[in-house]
Amino acid sequence: MIIIKSDQEIATMRQAGRIAGTVLEILKSQVRAGMKTKELDVMAAKEVEKLGAKPSFKGYRGFPANLCVSINDEIVHGIPDERVLDEGDIVSLDLGTIFVGFQSDAAVTVGVGKISPQAKRLIETTEGALRTGIAAAYPEARLGDISAAIQNYAESRGYSVVHEYTGHGIGRKMHEEPQIPNFGLPGSGPLLKKGMALALEPMVCVGDWHTRVIDNHWTVVTADGGLSAHFEHTIAITDAEPEVLTAV
Ligand code: MG
Repeated sequence: MIIIKSDQEIATMRQAGRIAGTVLEILKSQVRAGMKTKELDVMAAKEVEKLGAKPSFKGYRGFPANLCVSINDEIVHGIPDERVLDEGDIVSLDLGTIFVGFQSDAAVTVGVGKISPQAKRLIETTEGALRTGIAAAYPEARLGDISAAIQNYAESRGYSVVHEYTGHGIGRKMHEEPQIPNFGLPGSGPLLKKGMALALEPMVCVGDWHTRVIDNHWTVVTADGGLSAHFEHTIAITDAEPEVLTAV
């Protein structure tokens, strides 16, 4: 069942979202070659707490960190550790927060120093796919309209979208119904209604979209070793324009 939120609940989610968005901006500005990914994790926890929220990923199904840091062929759920970022890497930072009982979830992919034109285009395409998905999120549209918008945007630029991981409803729980695939048919799926809160998260690959999970049981990588990028916003369906709750 898709849970419809009241205006008051959306207002609380807006605060959770602002905090996630703000902290991601800070982390983005700190990413540089030579740093360990766990430094970003420490920074994420400190900044989220400073703003009065809690990071939501730590302990979620046993996830060991506050932030997901996924590099190059890693798509999502990378665990920050001693790994050092190199010039030319692309790194996805995925952060969830809880504020007064409500969740937010957001991600960005950023280049480390100077990156290849191919990597830059992948990042721009993934961000564009998210923007296009959000633009389809109107009341009385269907969920499949969002999925199809994301898929068409990415595929029309020559990329593939991950099929095995999806966006999701969000609220008091990080993962609520519905699942939001990054592929689908326009006009299919549930009707969108004011008060729905959705985490849209295109994961876009240069090569094939098939994935595998590495030995740490968390990090999802492309099966073919190709680059992948990931962007995510938590949004609310309103009477008119969708509201991006994790925008800064
Ligand atoms: Mg998510």
